[in-house]
Amino acid sequence: MNPFENALKQLDRAAAVTQIHPDTLKRMREAEREVRISIPLKRDNGTLEIFEGYRVQHSSARGPYKGGIRFHSETNMDEVRALALWMSMKCAVADIPMGGGKGGITVDPKQLSKAELERLSRGWVQRLAPVLGPRVDVPAPDVNTNSEIIGWMADEYQKITGDKTNATFTGKPLGKGGSEGRVQATGMGGFYAFDALREQLGIKEGARISIQGMGNVGGNAAKIFNEHGYTVVAMSDSKSGIVHSKGLDVAAVLAYKEKNHTLEGFPGAKKVTNEGILELPADVLIPAALENQITASNAAHINAHTILELANGPTTPEADDVLFARGIHVIPDILANAGGVIVSTFEWEQNLKGEHWSEKEVLDKLKKIMETQSRTVYERAVKLKTDLRRAAFAIALERITAALPRT
Ligand code: NAD
Repeated sequence: MNPFENALKQLDRAAAVTQIHPDTLKRMREAEREVRISIPLKRDNGTLEIFEGYRVQHSSARGPYKGGIRFHSETNMDEVRALALWMSMKCAVADIPMGGGKGGITVDPKQLSKAELERLSRGWVQRLAPVLGPRVDVPAPDVNTNSEIIGWMADEYQKITGDKTNATFTGKPLGKGGSEGRVQATGMGGFYAFDALREQLGIKEGARISIQGMGNVGGNAAKIFNEHGYTVVAMSDSKSGIVHSKGLDVAAVLAYKEKNHTLEGFPGAKKVTNEGILELPADVLIPAALENQITASNAAHINAHTILELANGPTTPEADDVLFARGIHVIPDILANAGGVIVSTFEWEQNLKGEHWSEKEVLDKLKKIMETQSRTVYERAVKLKTDLRRAAFAIALERITAALPRT
């Protein structure tokens, strides 16, 4: 299951339900620029290792390339290509003035010391600095990267280029140009999208939620849904999962994971596998880990009423068809997890203007965008008699078409 092939299929599937200019479709199939780099890293024991890294700049039609940097042992060019294409669509669905890009390094960061991780992060910037910049390409965190890593990267970029805007990387630490609200932005945006569509989708307040993945996105989503009165019945990380039909104490689970680096042995809960968590009975299933989790082989066993995709690419096109036929709603990634890039764009804007907005201001603006765009996508899906993903892609492709320079 190649995520880039899935992304291309999603383009075609949207084009099949509405009129999309054929030139736009052709252009969206190819990134504007793809850079593959090698990064030499001197390990703490003195040996030299070479790591492979990437930056894919998919579309600048609507603004500078924007998208996270992923550190993962399975990351490769095709994955980054898919993620970059989805970023172009996401920024267009959110109607923010950004294009799409994505980056990564093929590495298991758990195998590196902190000093090695810092040198590798800085190495990525040393290779790519010539193609980045506040008006060119503005990276952010993704899987296994966080504000500390982004802080190193922003610092390295400034050292190399002398840039004074501090607007080339977003997701920076607070106090180093970061924005209030960025850490919880993706989870919060997902909640706003869900809440805006909740009644139309027929979900009651306080419903039961299962969450796969508990990093930045899944962990914050668990907290936010719980604080809004929802019952989180299951949570998982890459190695372990737990379930409690009456609801987990989310704060206690997060504290347990922080202390023990696993969920195994969490008192009072039953174990569940990462595949099993997807099939548990729940009102809302939130995949918040990696791609290709809901596929043709398990879509028939999904036991949720609605899927809120906070991960990128968790559902394959084949699974989409099964879910649609079964009446299971999917709030698609390019809408549901746009909160991260929206608040990243607020950070970029604050840096360029030399401002610092309050958390309330940031979250109010985020809420407004998520509500407006969620309703727009829903209305389009109803009009086209199609699923929310095709509707979101259709809207994104129209907005990109309007911005594409004539060739
Ligand atoms: P993260 O590194 O903070 O956390 C990833 C989580 O997924 C961890 O809990 C990890 O244990 C878990 N995980 C890894 N492999 C897994 C597997 N095979 N099964 C189950 N769990 C697994 O990353 P994140 O920033 O939370 O990103 C999660 C997803 O959300 C990714 O798809 C990412 O692209 C997407 N996303 C992130 C942001 C953001 O702002 N960070 C924004 C939009 C979308």
